[in-house]
Amino acid sequence: MYLTGTMRINEKGHLEIGGIDAVELAAEFKTPLWVIDEQGFRENCRRFKEAFSAYGDSLVIYASKSLSCLALVKIAEEEGLGLDVVSGGEIFTALKAGFPMDKVFFHGNNKSREELVMALETGVGRIVVDNFYELELLNHICSEMGKKQDIMLRITPGVEAHTHEYIKTGQIDSKFGFTLPDGQALEGVRMALDCKWLNLKGLHCHIGSQIFEMASFRHATGVMMDFYATVKNELGLELDELDMGGGFGIFYYKGDEPCDPKDWAEAVMLTVREKADEYNLKMPRVIVEPGRAISGPAGITLYTIGSRKEVKGIRKYVAVDGGMGDNPRPALYGAKYTAILANKADKPVREKVSIAGKCCESGDMLIWDIELPTVEPGDILAVFATGAYNYAMSSNYNRLPRPAMVLVNEGKAEVIVKRETYEDIIRNDVLPERLRK
Ligand SMILES: *Cc1c(COP(=O)(O)O)cnc(C)c1O
Repeated sequence: MYLTGTMRINEKGHLEIGGIDAVELAAEFKTPLWVIDEQGFRENCRRFKEAFSAYGDSLVIYASKSLSCLALVKIAEEEGLGLDVVSGGEIFTALKAGFPMDKVFFHGNNKSREELVMALETGVGRIVVDNFYELELLNHICSEMGKKQDIMLRITPGVEAHTHEYIKTGQIDSKFGFTLPDGQALEGVRMALDCKWLNLKGLHCHIGSQIFEMASFRHATGVMMDFYATVKNELGLELDELDMGGGFGIFYYKGDEPCDPKDWAEAVMLTVREKADEYNLKMPRVIVEPGRAISGPAGITLYTIGSRKEVKGIRKYVAVDGGMGDNPRPALYGAKYTAILANKADKPVREKVSIAGKCCESGDMLIWDIELPTVEPGDILAVFATGAYNYAMSSNYNRLPRPAMVLVNEGKAEVIVKRETYEDIIRNDVLPERLRK
């Protein structure tokens, strides 16, 4: 279940990824190490693209906040995807990767003036406006620059997705978007139409992340299409595009049962078609924004096992050389992961341990209660599905340098993000003259 893409157990009984023994990767590039399976990443891009295009006019855009670096943005482009960015830093990455900027969608609930100017100057395809303040600000900046901009509006449809509190975004009480049920959304559309520098292409919603129930997407799509009908009736406007966001769930841990991208495509595209027929609307072009489902399963993290501590009758703690610095999700919202010992992948389970990180926080625990073969110092732990929201959310807490990231494919490994050094850690520190004694 946890072996995806090119991962397999090789003749030595070791985990292999991209045609390379994970134990060799750890030896060559040191640990902790993020490893991305190029073929797996590409296959994930294709599965979504093919699923949606089978139903008609659609665009899959990769939510780069899940994992953004030059190499992977470039690969998303090669696979024909658009790009979802949420900051100046992500725009800059897209630009430097040579991504076609007209296929870039810019999100965020508090884009700065500088970021909006950057988006306009670099020719970002759509700015997804989040609120009234931004609508006015953007229209003003556009008038100053004499540039018309295609936009979408982010709508909060009032749909509850069944997922973690912190990654739920479609409910009414959310910091994101124009709320639909209380009339803000219609007011937003009306105001957007009055902004003469803005060209409203369609509406967007994103109901949350790590969603397994296609009924949630079906429901949200229905609510959005009902609103498209309202917009047509009230304002005489038929919108060209509908962006249903991301949030497609993946396997992390037993109990997670991901759907097929085809199920998502069916849920969204058929609902759009039914509602378009019902209301006599034209079929909008549908956009979706998977992030986690593209980058997540394609990545693993390799750690070296170090110290252990046994609390008799209670728990065996085993520590690795990384932790919340490279993967804050368990500490942040109790995310669960599966792992194996890469060098003992064919050995039977012998003990139940809990995997601790090395940060000075009791909460820095990567995995509670996992069954593994006998765990010894020097073993290589491989944690699965760490491609999304690990590197992307990493920090230098405890002044730990961030790990390197390697891209593996057909027996070759290439560094795509260099390991940070201690010099990198103090690179932006400034010691005022008066303290230099
Ligand atoms: C985070 C986010 C996504 C991607 O979500 P995943 O769960 O990674 O698929 C897509 N669109 C928007 C607006 C987001 O905020």
